[in-house]
Amino acid sequence: MRKRLIVAWVLLMIFSNGTEAQKAPQRPALRRIVIDAGHGGSDQGAKGELSTEANIALNISLKLEQMLREQMPEVDIIMTRREDVYPSLYERCDIANRAKADLFISIHLNSAPRTKHKEVSHYETKTFYKGKGKKKKKYTKEVPVYRYWSSPSPAMGTETYIWSAAKNESKKREMMENEDAFVDSSINQIIREFDSRSPENAAFVALKAKQFFERSQYLAFTIEDEFKKIGRVSREARQRNEKGIWVLEGTSMPSVLVETGFISNPEEEKYLYSDAGQRETSQVIINALKRYKNSLENRTIGTANGVARK
Ligand SMILES: [Zn+2]
Repeated sequence: MRKRLIVAWVLLMIFSNGTEAQKAPQRPALRRIVIDAGHGGSDQGAKGELSTEANIALNISLKLEQMLREQMPEVDIIMTRREDVYPSLYERCDIANRAKADLFISIHLNSAPRTKHKEVSHYETKTFYKGKGKKKKKYTKEVPVYRYWSSPSPAMGTETYIWSAAKNESKKREMMENEDAFVDSSINQIIREFDSRSPENAAFVALKAKQFFERSQYLAFTIEDEFKKIGRVSREARQRNEKGIWVLEGTSMPSVLVETGFISNPEEEKYLYSDAGQRETSQVIINALKRYKNSLENRTIGTANGVARK
């Protein structure tokens, strides 16, 4: 397993529609998008003062879907969830892989621990003793009494993640072992098939993986660029290895995870909880998707043979 997992997913994609793409170059480069509202149901993700990450992520995702249908009607949209339920990470990937989607976008909200404060509230007179026996002396001293409290972290802004090309093997294995649904999946079959493949196929898979990486990277930068255009604080495109990011590795297509802002920041939560904020966030992502689609069609980013022609 391990490294073979991603390779297997990539293979699945190639053998299911890769050859078709080579024969028919007119096939639209961005035909089907999967929108994944992070968390849900038993997993509400980070908590804010007004709502939860699961709830806000779902509302943004539903608006994104609706606005995409209006603005990019030529693209199919598939949702991993439409209500407050928790599809496992494996199920989310499976939905995208079965749909042979060309892109996977996961919507999340960030959270930062509260900032801790310590302050002298007043002084108290305390009695101490010095020395032993007859020399023992009593004395008093003013000692500070502290007050402790916390306040929301000032951290704010957006981040868009792509999977990390390295160091993710142990995490991936961990996730696989934790996913109940995994047992019933066809992944073992796919891996077994992969084992019998030729080195030529392995090389093709490597190229394909490189292409997905380039496309994901381009989209992540573009999304952050669009956030900056409307004046949001951008924490840039990043790579991450954490648990939730598994959805980016388990999908055999370009994939990004958008942290749309900090739910732990009351200002940002208010914005992301509002209808206007959710629409604006969706519009930013759509603007980036339009640029992404354009670049694919003009072949300015990773194309079918895995080579950028910039
Ligand atoms: Zn999350």
